[in-house]
Amino acid sequence: MDKHLTRIAEIYKAIDNLYEAAMKHYNFNCEGCADNCCATKFHHHTNIEELYLAEGLKRLDESKQKEILCRSEDVMKVYNSSPEDVSVMCPLNEGGACIVYEHRPMICRIHGVPYQMFKKNMSIEFGTGCLRFVNEKLNENMQYFMFNRTIFYVEMAKVEKELRESLSLGGDYKKTTAEIVLSILKGH
Ligand code: SF4
Repeated sequence: MDKHLTRIAEIYKAIDNLYEAAMKHYNFNCEGCADNCCATKFHHHTNIEELYLAEGLKRLDESKQKEILCRSEDVMKVYNSSPEDVSVMCPLNEGGACIVYEHRPMICRIHGVPYQMFKKNMSIEFGTGCLRFVNEKLNENMQYFMFNRTIFYVEMAKVEKELRESLSLGGDYKKTTAEIVLSILKGH
């Protein structure tokens, strides 16, 4: 297990380094953003990210875990009674900041700047970045900073495959952050 967590930490570090370089290139930052991306309904797709996030949750005291559990249940109520693209703040965000920042999932680390990704059918997907980036930067006619997400997804998939084999895990994995928290703190 530890080797998988170590490996994912390395992947996250590589993402963070590239992301920081991209932000510098574009002279872009998230300060004062009214459109907080933590209110986006992100889905996560790997067991290994859940295990890594669990390490962050474990470091919080019991009363904080209970608060997060309540918020996660509230978020799920909204998700279950709203359209698919409903916007509601992540249960791990407090006062605009992530309380498990060092253990946050991959999508939280890569969302925001323009990217490219090679698909299985050999096509290339391009993303424009977040709303703030589009509004503030796209019209500046800046040179694209090469942010290729492919390698991160490939490496993540390799770790996930090894983990699944070692724990004999099957089935698809797709969870929101609130669902992950409930899985970790309530065991379902
Ligand atoms: S896990 Fe952290 S960074 Fe990701 S959406 Fe939630 S609060 Fe934001």
